[in-house]
Amino acid sequence: MLNGKTALVTGSTSGIGLGIARSLARQGARIVLNGFGDVEAARAEVAALGVEVDYHGADMSKPAEIADMMAFAAARFGRVDVLVNNAGIQHVAPIEEFDPARWDAVIAINLSSAFHTTRLAIPAMRQADWGRIINIASTHGLVASPFKSAYVAAKHAIVGLTKVVALETATTGITCNAICPGWVLTPLVARQIEARSHDEGISVQQAERELLEEKQPSLAFTTPQELGELAVFLCGPASKNVRGVAWNVDGGWVAR
Ligand code: NAD
Repeated sequence: MLNGKTALVTGSTSGIGLGIARSLARQGARIVLNGFGDVEAARAEVAALGVEVDYHGADMSKPAEIADMMAFAAARFGRVDVLVNNAGIQHVAPIEEFDPARWDAVIAINLSSAFHTTRLAIPAMRQADWGRIINIASTHGLVASPFKSAYVAAKHAIVGLTKVVALETATTGITCNAICPGWVLTPLVARQIEARSHDEGISVQQAERELLEEKQPSLAFTTPQELGELAVFLCGPASKNVRGVAWNVDGGWVAR
């Protein structure tokens, strides 16, 4: 379905980004990876699916590096047809103790990076009259939790950005949508489970169970592969009138 198309997935050396890159590669898309994890392992996993793959190490908190990555992708493969804004970090602290530098980093990486990649990707998408922009938001783009002020602010904002871009491209072949996962067992969440286990003096398994019981009624983690399959749907012809949605995949988290 995506033969001849190029997908750039930010923060795709692990977790959800890598899962989405794998799903898009299975549909034949060339992949541009990005992120600070195990680059060679991610590259090998995607290449094993039989598609061309390259990597750019741009730091998503740095607009000049983002511009360089977008230029690199265009030079390497022609243009970016599918843009997945996925890179993200978390920082957990009460607001009065929240380190301002961490606030700036969360806003830059989880929100502003998507503004920069999107503004740079859209001209070529308009020329082709085709494009898919998928923003990985979160249930925290729809509802809040305490101690995650920067993350919740950034994720609510990226849902808003998604709607604006969807409206500005509504009469074109470009769509922009957000995916809002609940808990997905990736390195980002594993760190929160470890912190909980440490703080409460409980086992990692118990901390995992408590985390799910607190928020996710299905008591099961969403997987990167499930999110990858939703991204495939959002790239497909049946979704061409799906515009500006924030689609939660959260085991019922925001239903209650
Ligand atoms: P992860 O830590 O496994 O992956 C994050 C990726 O972003 C990694 O590749 C990392 O190297 C990259 N990254 C971090 N800082 C970067 C920077 N400055 N520049 C470039 N790359 C950078 O985490 P994940 O859980 O897969 O998270 C991916 C996205 O999904 C994030 O936006 C996160 O907020 C969102 N999300 C995750 C969950 C969850 O439960 N795991 C739930 C909802 C939303």
